[in-house]
Amino acid sequence: NNYSGKPVFNHKIVLLGDMGVGKTCLSIRYAYGKFSNTHEATIGGCFLTKDEELDDHIVKYEIWDTAGQERYHSLAQMYYKNAIAACVVFDVTSKESFEKCQRWVEELNQKASPEIIISIMGNKIDLESHQVTREMAESYCKEMGLQYYEVSAKQNQGVDKVFKDIAKRLPQES
Ligand code: GDP
Ligand code: MG
Repeated sequence: NNYSGKPVFNHKIVLLGDMGVGKTCLSIRYAYGKFSNTHEATIGGCFLTKDEELDDHIVKYEIWDTAGQERYHSLAQMYYKNAIAACVVFDVTSKESFEKCQRWVEELNQKASPEIIISIMGNKIDLESHQVTREMAESYCKEMGLQYYEVSAKQNQGVDKVFKDIAKRLPQES
């Protein structure tokens, strides 16, 4: 890629949240621009890359997804190592996943860099019967000083904006 000489900065971002909330679908949606249901075995435990072009520089993301270890409600230290940003995902049709999302934020506070930029994503807004309203999620995020986004990996709503917003907040260094 030629970005006409714009500087490029590499940054690691991690996805957290309970199994089934849509972390893998969100990372594939953002990195590849598609919705895929048949990925689990192929990219588990690895990362995808994606360039986010801003006005005067490029953020080269390394997007870390889990390989199912989130089932144990905690991830290895190396997962968080050098991560500059994190997205904690829940499923808006599952109140339980929203409660667990708060535990994942605590896990970040314990294991990640104190400077890490945390955003919360309420995924699957394309579905009916939401158990977690925007008001509930925003009230929690306001209290914690976090940014909240409602998204759908399936219908491609809001996903690009999350990563663009985060990219704008990252330091211009690698
Ligand atoms: P992960 O365990 O957090 O990585 O979740 P996956 O990405 O594997 O997704 C779990 C399930 O939720 C799969 O059946 C996906 O098809 C489904 N899913 C993911 N994102 C969405 C979404 O935005 N809308 C709907 N309706 N289903 C989704
Ligand atoms: Mg997954």
